[in-house]
Amino acid sequence: MEFRSGFIAIMGRPNVGKSTLMNALIGEKIAIVSEKPQTTRGRILGIAGGADWQMVFVDTPGLHKPRTKLGTYMVKAAEDALDGVDIILAMVTAGEIGAQDRAIIERLGRRKESKILAVNKVDAVSRETLLAELNTLHEVPYNAVIPISALRGDGLDELQNMLRTHLPEGPRYFPEDSVTDQPERVLCAEIIREKALLNLREEVPHGIGIEMQAITKLSERLTEIHATIYCEREAHKRIVIGKQGSMLQRIGSAARLDIEQLLDTHIVLRLWVKVREDWRNRPEDLRTLGYE
Ligand code: GDP
Ligand code: MG
Repeated sequence: MEFRSGFIAIMGRPNVGKSTLMNALIGEKIAIVSEKPQTTRGRILGIAGGADWQMVFVDTPGLHKPRTKLGTYMVKAAEDALDGVDIILAMVTAGEIGAQDRAIIERLGRRKESKILAVNKVDAVSRETLLAELNTLHEVPYNAVIPISALRGDGLDELQNMLRTHLPEGPRYFPEDSVTDQPERVLCAEIIREKALLNLREEVPHGIGIEMQAITKLSERLTEIHATIYCEREAHKRIVIGKQGSMLQRIGSAARLDIEQLLDTHIVLRLWVKVREDWRNRPEDLRTLGYE
């Protein structure tokens, strides 16, 4: 029996549900999800596999117009994600396919790789809207157009089967049972960032970065984590800390629960907040915080 494997780039505008889909397909939460666009900053690999196949998903930052250096890095990461992939999985939101989506669909449609178009969030539109929209996609040069709900799981079996039929022959790239290439340190930092994004509003979220200081295993059942949340302004720092530390506490306890799940141990999480002005435009800061 031949082994089939391949790299699959998940492409689409911010917020279409790329990270949600990747987590659903690999059955574990490794990419952070948020209602705020541009949540995913780097390139995260998600891995799913069976007895004779392995899929390596590349979750990319959404395709969008860059405004800061971080934005430039994110667009480049999205485009770099296409180097060496076997299948392009383009994603759009049902009922909301606009000019930008069509431009992305068309641009990706010219590529030589196998291409599948997933129309996500079908749970949020009527059947009529969906059918009418699917009709407008009849002619796109993709191997398949598949309506799904990454959140509810609708259509994911069909999508996975379709992906499997397009996998080329190939090796097992990662050990069996792995779900990601990312070290625990990075996953933990991403969880803390997700909880900060969930709890903070407006201009603060995009200005924060997480630096992990230490992950120390104190015993078989207890690990201590020290991390710093960087923000761009003194005023933001006050918001992140909150009244008598209430906001920081909320972010910390939500993050702790997810990290305990991930690492399967009790966690003591110690968070600090520091100001580092304009870090998003400073290459050396981007590096410290895990970008590039
Ligand atoms: P990304 O920016 O493309 O990675 O999108 P995310 O995965 O972070 O998801 C953006 C938002 O869309 C989150 O609030 C998700 O919960 C939501 N979402 C993702 N998939 C679905 C879906 O199938 N149905 C609905 N109703 N919402 C979804
Ligand atoms: Mg994402």
